[in-house]
Amino acid sequence: MVSLLPFAFCLLTFFSMIVMKFGGTSVESASAIERVAGIVRSRLERRPVVVVSAMGKTTNKLLAIARTAVEGHRKEAIQQIHELRDFHSHQARQVVSLAERAELDLLLDEHFQELTELVKGLSVLGEATPRSIDAISSYGERLSSHIVTRALRHFSIDAVHVDSRHVVVTDGRFTQAAPQYGLTYPKLKAGLLPLLEQGKVVVMGGFIGSTEEGVTTTLGRGGSDFSASIIGAGIGAEEIQIWTDVDGMLTCDPAILPGGRRVKVISFPEAAELAYFGAKVLHPSTLLPAMDRNIPVFILNSRDAGCEGTKILPQAPATSNLAKSIACKKNITVVDISSTRMLMAHGFLHKIFEIFDRYETPVDMVTTSEVSVSLTIDKTDRLEDITRELSRFAEVRHENRQAIICVVGDNIRYTPGVAGRIFKAVEHINVRMISQGASLRNVSFVIQESDLKPAVQALHTAFFSQLDPEIFA
Ligand code: ASP
Repeated sequence: MVSLLPFAFCLLTFFSMIVMKFGGTSVESASAIERVAGIVRSRLERRPVVVVSAMGKTTNKLLAIARTAVEGHRKEAIQQIHELRDFHSHQARQVVSLAERAELDLLLDEHFQELTELVKGLSVLGEATPRSIDAISSYGERLSSHIVTRALRHFSIDAVHVDSRHVVVTDGRFTQAAPQYGLTYPKLKAGLLPLLEQGKVVVMGGFIGSTEEGVTTTLGRGGSDFSASIIGAGIGAEEIQIWTDVDGMLTCDPAILPGGRRVKVISFPEAAELAYFGAKVLHPSTLLPAMDRNIPVFILNSRDAGCEGTKILPQAPATSNLAKSIACKKNITVVDISSTRMLMAHGFLHKIFEIFDRYETPVDMVTTSEVSVSLTIDKTDRLEDITRELSRFAEVRHENRQAIICVVGDNIRYTPGVAGRIFKAVEHINVRMISQGASLRNVSFVIQESDLKPAVQALHTAFFSQLDPEIFA
């Protein structure tokens, strides 16, 4: 007999859908959630899947509770859990209809009781494994997704909750799990498409997933953007919208230099470089699944839904501006490794990177000279171990409080003299390492953190004094 299943899926995917992800600040309170309901309602005909972060700073609070418990302060940890419950209950009650209140209370009871048991367990053991950290930090998105589902219903939207842990399958690298696309995509299709076809708005928690065996995992801090992209790619969404509390990607980091201009449209590779080099508006892994399926990603402001935000497309329109934005990363440590044994030797870099790999420390930037290698890291918790091992065959020095600046733009590839312009602009500042990525879309360099603001200011003047109105707002 011929199976009708593939045919059914063809029919099911015949309509268009979008994914709308709302970050922590967009769901931080009853009034923020009401705003979200308004935004979702105005896009109902596009069949949205709503992906939410934990409310406000909930993930930080959950991790703090775990730490308090591990340190043996059980009573304080329990007290913090009560506060977190009160916060969720207080906000949720304002956006959940009377008819659903009893159910809401039950839901909160269940989740917070479970959480309390877990936390008590940690205080008895006096240690937390990555697996138990994931179990605890998952509660933020589990709660927010249930609350937002009920709130949308309260605002007359036909919303239904889907537990992300049932459809997003990851490997077992707790706290930093990677999606198993081959298992996840079919589950997303089977789980979401029939609901969307019935006209339901699907609500899911970002950040969380589970292993094939059903153990709860998380995709790493800030991972809800990534979830939105995985879900969008899995169901073949027409567009992925990342709703946050800023107007989009800017020409520079507002925390370093206020007054940057909004970038209206940018290419996938440019946005990916910016996210990687510190643009906080997007989690660095977000664009991978979207890029893979050519799905445009929008960054939008839930506090100003009328602002058109930033559009991230497979290819950006041609422009006369050389750069799109300047990203920076603070709190960088430079590690200098020198050894005369490196001279003409092979296998040296392999030896070095193998050590960083073993201690699970990502390396951002690398430069080499005749007998030395300099590299940058931002995760320093294993640096002592790494230094000890490297010292067996090389001299090692490190310097903290450094910063990476990265100038990004597709045009950098085609235009001679860009590096000259960059370094002319910062000629008064001591530059420590320089690198241009293989994509040739970025020029990045390391300076002392204290020089960051003047450097960004000088670069901003050099590259963004005249702006193409098609590209910048
Ligand atoms: N709630 C998680 C975090 O704070 C994930 C996210 O918001 O993207 O890291």
